[in-house]
Amino acid sequence: MKYSRQRELIREAVNQSNGHPTADAVYQQVRQKEPTISLATVYRNLSQLAENNMIRRVVVPGDSDHFDCTMEYHEHMICTGCGKVVDVWPERPLAEQFRALPGVCCTGYELVLYGLCPTCADQENRQKTQAEKG
Ligand SMILES: [Zn+2]
Ligand SMILES: [Zn+2]
Repeated sequence: MKYSRQRELIREAVNQSNGHPTADAVYQQVRQKEPTISLATVYRNLSQLAENNMIRRVVVPGDSDHFDCTMEYHEHMICTGCGKVVDVWPERPLAEQFRALPGVCCTGYELVLYGLCPTCADQENRQKTQAEKG
């Protein structure tokens, strides 16, 4: 990949966001430094960065793609309460287990977990406790 200042800014924006920004969130960030940049350019560069394993694309069914600067192995859970993408850290890479399956040759996977993020889980617990108190 040839060096591109715009792409560097985009990469920085992903690195600095604490979470999993969408292309649109990255665009809002980069636009402050590069007012002429378009959303299409941001999206194209994010795709290129993901293809070159410099960032990770997180596919969220029914929502825009999210992007992640954490390349260390982990999976993603979507919070059904607030829609946030949460990192989960399996002890063993799932790919290892899939690759060991007999009778098939598994080369990749897209996995989406659903659940509640700590904030939403907390809220639900509190509501339950309140309901129990009556
Ligand atoms: Zn949540
Ligand atoms: Zn992540």
